[in-house]
Amino acid sequence: MDSAAGALPATESQRSSEAVAPRDLVGLSRAELTAEITGLGEPSFRADQLWHWIYHRGACDFAEMTSLSKAFRAKLAERYHVARPEIATHQLSSDGTHKWLLRLADGNEVETVFIPEEDRGTLCVSSQVGCTLTCRFCHTGTQRLVRNLTPGEILGQLMIARDALDEWPSPKDGRRLTNIVMMGMGEPLYNFDNVAQALTIVMDPAGITLGRRKITLSTAGVVPMMARCGEELGVNLAVSLHAVTDELRDRIVPLNKKYPLAELLAACRSYPGAHNARRITFEYVMLKDVNDSLAEAQELARLLKGIPAKINLIPFNPWPGSEYVCSDWDTIERFSDSLFAAGLSAPVRRPRGRDIMAACGQLKSASEKLKKSLRETQSAAHAEA
Ligand code: SAH
Repeated sequence: MDSAAGALPATESQRSSEAVAPRDLVGLSRAELTAEITGLGEPSFRADQLWHWIYHRGACDFAEMTSLSKAFRAKLAERYHVARPEIATHQLSSDGTHKWLLRLADGNEVETVFIPEEDRGTLCVSSQVGCTLTCRFCHTGTQRLVRNLTPGEILGQLMIARDALDEWPSPKDGRRLTNIVMMGMGEPLYNFDNVAQALTIVMDPAGITLGRRKITLSTAGVVPMMARCGEELGVNLAVSLHAVTDELRDRIVPLNKKYPLAELLAACRSYPGAHNARRITFEYVMLKDVNDSLAEAQELARLLKGIPAKINLIPFNPWPGSEYVCSDWDTIERFSDSLFAAGLSAPVRRPRGRDIMAACGQLKSASEKLKKSLRETQSAAHAEA
């Protein structure tokens, strides 16, 4: 299964279309951008200027980049563009959560969610179209992996949100978009190189300048990639745990068969940078009569002993056809209290954006529905013609 999740080779048609289409500058690393610009015979500081326009000012059009000479701008416009994914739909929940369905250049679609809170605003970013993991309670998991997102497509989600929030040039203070979580569709550690390149750009001090402490990467437990994530990116880690025995976790998070609990927890214990001030978040979805007993809360506290940990209890978000039910509210509170008594912080994550299917585990479902209704409209139009 792993190989299916690795970098997928471009098809012949993709390759030939890339040869003629202008190249997107969004997502190129600093070194790649510099190589492009010096390859045009320009000095390398021009690449820094371009970087500033793209990531500090949010410019999408070379004509706006007035500190660059007209001749250089014309040269750029012939060969490149500064693209954004197309916004297929934008929905606003009654609780203020935004959800964008974005259409990529090849027609594939991904979703991105912005969750405003009193003290922060978090963007939930997708890393893949679809997912290989088939977690039983997750709607994205019912869709096969289509492909990895490129660094530009991962960044594009942030650029779209910043456009909508009117956050260019990158504000120093008073930002609305303050945090990023790699918790959208896909498994970010199965697309590590592209995710790492995108996040490195996000953290660059001459552009978007979002620090590694404001970024959280969530994994279902791709153990061999966890250390690299800590060493190379130093971002916060979240682990989708959801069960305290291998028997149950094998069933609901099938990746556990490959990397069982003991290995996963060992990788957490040695996660670079994990200490009390920077704890690992363990996500635990509350499934009625499946994983929500008090005995399981106690076992959870025992398993996490010695790991600087906090627990995020996520009320299960239903989706059409899901086989689970969310635990009762009392049960969730008792579970949380029991962890708290054992010395662990275990807040309950308030579901956000459920009315627009933007909550955890619901992503992509709306786009499927949209496609279905589009098909129906199209076939109705066909019948009328
Ligand atoms: N593949 C990564 C990133 C996805 S994050 C990972 O598994 O961590 C999405 C989070 O939402 C994960 O913790 C996932 O387990 C959780 N989730 C999935 N389906 C859910 C649902 N229906 N209700 C609540 N949480 C869900």
